[in-house]
Amino acid sequence: MTRSPQGTALITGASSGIGAHYAEQLAQRGYDLILVARDRQRLDALAQRLTDATRQSVQVLPADLADPAALAEVEVERTLREDASLTLLVNNAGMGTHTPLLQSDPAQMLRMIALNVTALTQLTYAAVPAFVARGRGAIINVSSIVSLAPELLNGVYGGSKAYVTAFTQSLQRELAGTGVRAQAVLPGATATDFWARGGLPLAHLDPEIVMSPADLVAAALADFEGEVAISIPSLHDLSRWETYEASRLAMADQLSSRQLAPRYHTAH
Ligand code: NAP
Repeated sequence: MTRSPQGTALITGASSGIGAHYAEQLAQRGYDLILVARDRQRLDALAQRLTDATRQSVQVLPADLADPAALAEVEVERTLREDASLTLLVNNAGMGTHTPLLQSDPAQMLRMIALNVTALTQLTYAAVPAFVARGRGAIINVSSIVSLAPELLNGVYGGSKAYVTAFTQSLQRELAGTGVRAQAVLPGATATDFWARGGLPLAHLDPEIVMSPADLVAAALADFEGEVAISIPSLHDLSRWETYEASRLAMADQLSSRQLAPRYHTAH
């Protein structure tokens, strides 16, 4: 049970990259932490470093989230349901690749969906009812700019992140008035192990398009504190997102109709 007024943040994929920076910056803001990933050694080393630096309580919960049936994930879900000190879930664990469909291993694509989509959904379903019952809590879902640009990398990765953004937007609407918030973060290319793990070393990217994970997380957390629902730290001209969203929402009243659109009339 936390003594911190901020409560406890559970961060998935906290052993490296963006998740490790969330851990560091949330500890600096006074959150106690529960760190989840597979690599216990890296989690333990980070927990020790953050405890020494911030005096916050930092626990580790090693788990393979791509295996929904694994006992470890049951433990993560149980914590989300039962630990009343939790105020924040950061669904950050994810994997990606740049391989086109014809060169992809289908089993690896299914593991990607299990981690990026299924685990994120499962953990959200564990956390949200408890947050709503307490009238307090938030979820940060780490999506990607490929949710807006699925042509850029592998299609299953882009599709998985489109799910994360759409799911978060739906949560934002459903949770209005409950005291619980959801934010989607859409990083552009960020300097982490993600690229090497996905088979495209960072050195192959133009350094001008690559952000540091520390900057990314600092901006996303500033947006979180400012209640910005969709955070896109690399997008310089925010009006482009606003125009895109306004145009998407403006279609809504025409997306269902008993009548075929007039352009089909000549065909009948
Ligand atoms: P990363 O350094 O590779 O971090 C991924 C994290 O997820 C690691 O902590 C890893 O830890 C954990 N993870 C991987 N598979 C897991 C599993 N089966 N179960 C539990 N944890 C697992 O990459 P990152 O860039 O920080 O990625 C974080 C998030 O940002 C991902 O969702 C990614 O899609 C998103 N993102 C990244 C970029 C980018 O350019 N880097 C851009 C847009 C979005 P273990 O190996 O210890 O399990």
